[in-house]
Amino acid sequence: MRISLQAELGDFQHRHTIYVFALKMSFLAVTLSSIVTTLLLPPLDWMGMLPVPLAHGVIYGVLLSWLIGGAVSSALSIVAGHAMHRLSVSRAEFEQLSRTDVLSGLLNRRAFTEALEQVDGNACLVIFDVDRFKAINDRFGHACGDAVIVAVSAILAAAFDGGSVTARLGGEEFGAIVVGGSQEQRIERVRAVCARLAGQPIVADDCVVAITVSAGVAELESGRNKEGAYSAADKALYLAKALGRNRVVHENEGLHPGWRRHLSDETADARAINMDCDEARLA
Ligand code: GH3
Ligand code: MG
Ligand code: MG
Repeated sequence: MRISLQAELGDFQHRHTIYVFALKMSFLAVTLSSIVTTLLLPPLDWMGMLPVPLAHGVIYGVLLSWLIGGAVSSALSIVAGHAMHRLSVSRAEFEQLSRTDVLSGLLNRRAFTEALEQVDGNACLVIFDVDRFKAINDRFGHACGDAVIVAVSAILAAAFDGGSVTARLGGEEFGAIVVGGSQEQRIERVRAVCARLAGQPIVADDCVVAITVSAGVAELESGRNKEGAYSAADKALYLAKALGRNRVVHENEGLHPGWRRHLSDETADARAINMDCDEARLA
């Protein structure tokens, strides 16, 4: 019983564990059956209910336990082992699916958040967002938009392999945990992949689309609160968008006075455009 209670479902992912399980269970069943037989026969002999001498009865009982009990328990354990193997494999597949984004094949937001919790320094968090993606959908269709997401995913996954992690956070937004190197080297890798994405049009699903990508970067220093880092990367991405898109902004750059001036000019421009639109609508 102790063996069966100790058997974890996860242990059954490999086929050979079924036979090890069956062997253990049969041995346990036969041993228990031999002990019970040996304990039951003396009282039966004492009551005169044994047709053979006690010693013969014990030998026959133990032999039958090993032959018949062993065969039956082996067969039953193999059947149970196969069922547990199938259950274990489908549970592993389900777990894999629950952590994977169906369209891109990358990790999903949930798995990315879990990966983020494991990071302890010497890494940065990047949030990428494809610029003006809605316009791509509107102009080329949703299927083409999907194909662009798949192509961008493949490029990001190839750029951040090894210890780094890439995920699709939703829509046309991607996350990466870039591990190793210095802060400058990591930012350089992020800039390089953005330049690569913008450098050549994406050919997918019968459409050729030129895209640009904006990215916000935050440092994952040891001991830093992950939610804080995520929010800093998100703000940096927002700044990258506000500064005109197609750029990488590091969280520290948000403090730069030049950026702030540029941003307030942009905001003023946007406000002027909105006012023009409102006036046109009123006219
Ligand atoms: P910005 O530069 O500010 O990021 O502009 P944007 O157009 O990229 O951003 P916005 O959030 O306005 O639009 C994102 C669009 O992405 C809207 C939504 O319809 C589309 N989208 C979200 N998920 C999917 C998807 O799985 N496939 C496709 N094809 N489109 C998607
Ligand atoms: Mg976008
Ligand atoms: Mg977006």
